[in-house]
Amino acid sequence: MPDLHLASRNAKKIAEMARILAEHVPDVTVLGLDDVVAYPEPVEDEATFAGNALLKARAGVAATGLATVADDSGLCVDALNGMPGVLSARWSGPPKDDARNNRLLLDQLADVPDERRRAHFTCAVAVVLPDGREHVVEGRMDGTVIREVRGDGGFGYDVLFVADARPGLTTAELSVADKDAISHRGAALRALAPKLSDLLA
Ligand code: IMP
Repeated sequence: MPDLHLASRNAKKIAEMARILAEHVPDVTVLGLDDVVAYPEPVEDEATFAGNALLKARAGVAATGLATVADDSGLCVDALNGMPGVLSARWSGPPKDDARNNRLLLDQLADVPDERRRAHFTCAVAVVLPDGREHVVEGRMDGTVIREVRGDGGFGYDVLFVADARPGLTTAELSVADKDAISHRGAALRALAPKLSDLLA
């Protein structure tokens, strides 16, 4: 079974992916960006999550020659016509700052009533193989943006998001395993795993 490159430096993402893949592709070794030859990471300037995930995965294959997986994710708020979307990480401007992003989102939604605070997280995961084959899957987690930050787990907008699947708790108040079980990223990785198993065979 060939090594698999995950174009990310996030140790939690690499561990999560290795855990989920292990059920379907037991012999694969997942290598993060810090485990492969250094290469310039592309600017994520596509209009869609899938476009950005593909961009990163293609760059990873070109640089390493290894089958590469990359993801892109964000929060889409109905009352903001789907924004921040692909701009989630730097919604309040550079440098990336989760607390500042959350304050801006709360201000933007200050006058939006509870019944119109629907939102969802989306995660696109792309795999690109050295022979040019490509595959993209998406996962989604629906919920609501609340009015004050709550919880100290997770990252990003988790402190403001209550998933429909776990009413009453923000995703920052869930255990890691519980969030994985309902999250957009978990769903996308679980959808990808059997496909990866076929592609790498
Ligand atoms: P990335 O795709 O992991 O770089 O995430 C992009 C941005 O979307 C993050 O910086 C967060 O602001 C937001 N985001 C993506 N997934 C999550 C999540 O599971 N919880 C909270 N925020 C998230």
